[in-house]
Amino acid sequence: MGTPLVGDPAEVDIALVGVPYDGATENRPGPRHGPREIRNMSSFIRAVHHATRINPHALCRVADLGDVAFSNPFDIEASHADITAFYRTLQAAGVTPLSAGGDHSISLPILRAVAADGPVGMVHIDAHTDTCDEEFGEKFTHGTPFRRAVEEGLLDPKRTVQIGIRGTQNSEESWDYSLESGMRVIFIEEFTRLGVDAVIAEARRVVGEGPVYVSFDIDSLDPAFAPGTGTPEVGGMTPIEAQALLRGLRGLALIGGDVVEVSPPFDPSGNTALVGATMMYEILCVLAEAVARRKG
Ligand code: MN
Ligand code: MN
Repeated sequence: MGTPLVGDPAEVDIALVGVPYDGATENRPGPRHGPREIRNMSSFIRAVHHATRINPHALCRVADLGDVAFSNPFDIEASHADITAFYRTLQAAGVTPLSAGGDHSISLPILRAVAADGPVGMVHIDAHTDTCDEEFGEKFTHGTPFRRAVEEGLLDPKRTVQIGIRGTQNSEESWDYSLESGMRVIFIEEFTRLGVDAVIAEARRVVGEGPVYVSFDIDSLDPAFAPGTGTPEVGGMTPIEAQALLRGLRGLALIGGDVVEVSPPFDPSGNTALVGATMMYEILCVLAEAVARRKG
């Protein structure tokens, strides 16, 4: 994205971070290669936004802080601890993170760092609620991060909105958990019926004034636009809808975000990685305004 590679967090306001981990994926893997291809395709992205005229690089010091390194990728919880340690270093330096995954399990260890002071709200855009209790007896998978985040007091379910939900499940338990915990769940049918502007208004109502994290799973998009992902679900959003949705988060107290589940081995054209980089840029624009406001 035209940013310098920087090692010292003290030199940046917003850190772009790669989290090349997909060891918590139960079916098609590959997002461990996501940061590499998102970086590659991000070279197409310039500074100024065509609609908002935001230039995030003029508002904040934005840099690429490289990738999280893993001590033992075969061990999910040890890998998550590596992620949390990396983000705690950023947090201690007052740096706001914007991450490229990785599978969706990475959002939990990121939240352990960025929500250390108390539960945050979340705008979660995904085909899946990722609030399963477990998969194959495992508590820390890419299908469970936001249930764990509620249990660990990182996420306020009543300030959480999940947008674009669809696709078959083996049981209803994850949908039920989201609804019963108080999350606002906008299935794709409601999204289509309401339209993007009304969904933005509803998301803003749910998350309110407090700190908000943004988590964008690339499988929220229709696989026609983003085929390179592990769990494709037909009947999803278009990129222009998702861009408008992210742009609609302007003015919220954003504290970080991620784009996850880009799987280059299933992305022969590279377009999924380009879409992922573009969504990161949309988040970067609204995040840079939030960071610049906080810094006065
Ligand atoms: Mn997900
Ligand atoms: Mn998903």
